[in-house]
Amino acid sequence: MKISNPADGTVITEVTADNATAVRRKYELARAGQPKWARVPLKKRLATIANFRERVVTMRETLARTLTHEVGKPIRQSRNELNGVLGRIDFFLAESAATLRDEKVFADSGQKLLERIGHEPLGVIANISAWNYPYFVGGNVFVPALLAGNAVLYKPSEFATLTGIHIAELLHDAGVPRDVFVPVIGDGMTGAALLRQPVDGVFFTGSLATGAKIAARAGERMIKVQLELGGKDPIYVCEDVDIAAAAAAVADGAFYNTGQSCCSVERIYVHESIHDAFVRAFVDEVRGYKLGDPMDETTYIGAITRRPQLDVLKKQVADAKRKGARLLIGGNIVKRKGNWFEPTVLADVDHSMALMKDESFGPIIGIEAVADDDAAVDLMNDTEYGLTAGVYTKDERRAKRILARVNAGTVYWNCCDRVSPRLPWSGVKHSGMGLTLSTYGIQTFTRPKAWHLKSAS
Ligand code: NAD
Repeated sequence: MKISNPADGTVITEVTADNATAVRRKYELARAGQPKWARVPLKKRLATIANFRERVVTMRETLARTLTHEVGKPIRQSRNELNGVLGRIDFFLAESAATLRDEKVFADSGQKLLERIGHEPLGVIANISAWNYPYFVGGNVFVPALLAGNAVLYKPSEFATLTGIHIAELLHDAGVPRDVFVPVIGDGMTGAALLRQPVDGVFFTGSLATGAKIAARAGERMIKVQLELGGKDPIYVCEDVDIAAAAAAVADGAFYNTGQSCCSVERIYVHESIHDAFVRAFVDEVRGYKLGDPMDETTYIGAITRRPQLDVLKKQVADAKRKGARLLIGGNIVKRKGNWFEPTVLADVDHSMALMKDESFGPIIGIEAVADDDAAVDLMNDTEYGLTAGVYTKDERRAKRILARVNAGTVYWNCCDRVSPRLPWSGVKHSGMGLTLSTYGIQTFTRPKAWHLKSAS
């Protein structure tokens, strides 16, 4: 399998993908390793993950450079991801003992009865991952899954393979046995082969189209399935905001990671009374974004990781223009080696346009004027997705009223494109099922076992 640099199209290296036989062997390895790992005291498993954290810190610059090379993410944003994953690891290290501890829920000395809940590992799980934030979306799964005593068959995206290999090396080096964290290398065919193994659960991050196939496969097997899928995340800007500050914050939410985040801002609704001023401030902000070599410290807009996405972006812009949208900046594929698209802003958009309905997953955004809060809420909810949604206003009560009516897994007041390890990360409708992060995101890698204990004496 060729690993290419999306910033210039050059082949970085070639790796051997796992075929069906190799996948089977890896599954058997993990199946044999898991019970031993589950018997390792939690203290020791925690120490192993703490070792992994130390190695990430030591290797941070190398890891950031590899990530930038293979996905085209600006180097500063790669470093941010690595710094961010440390906070998530810290959360799991701090919370796992209390979350995984057996819970005594009832005791009656008269009946000599004790009721207890135990938290057992699921067993061998498949962790099929995306490329856009491989440390985040991978780490949200494999760190708590390993702490809970599972073996993990980890399939990084074919667009983040070298990062996946780094992660495996660091975990093994830190003391996670090779038969407990097992990287499975390849593309969708390898992922499909992995799901033909009798794994005990599948934890997937990626597109709706692939997620639907995975859910169908898991349904046949009656195994736990978790899907973290796409979004079409809206922001509503009310008329009472500081326009320049709101425009800068929302533009960052839309264009950070070159718009290739599951929780990128994908639609903006602005109160009609400030619409024109907001649009001007927004376009000014976007004009300042530097597109270029992802290794350059000053670059903000990097490459588009998957080449076919260029066509999706081009078609969304053309469709919007044909239906009456006004192109304010950008709109084109950049003519240079590799995969590049100009940061693009369109106004006078509406929901007849794919731009406002389908996930763009790139540096393009539409801005629509709304008359009032009710109209904004209706439009925010007019989507098949439901990952995040946010509102910018000075009025806390108004924000909470609006956000209570929005159907999304995560809601933001005066912020966006934000993930916290302390809060559950989940989507409604086509944004997925299940969750990661928070203490629920530790428990999700366990099966509760009910103990009814009656003493005979
Ligand atoms: P993708 O669906 O193309 O691929 C995801 C993974 O699935 C890859 O590892 C791929 O090799 C594998 N795969 C493909 N076909 C398969 C099959 N038939 N069986 C098993 N595995 C298969 O998605 P992507 O391009 O890597 O990621 C982008 C998508 O991920 C976007 O839609 C984005 O919104 C979403 N995403 C969601 C979250 C979240 O937390 N909700 C986070 C990051 C990304």
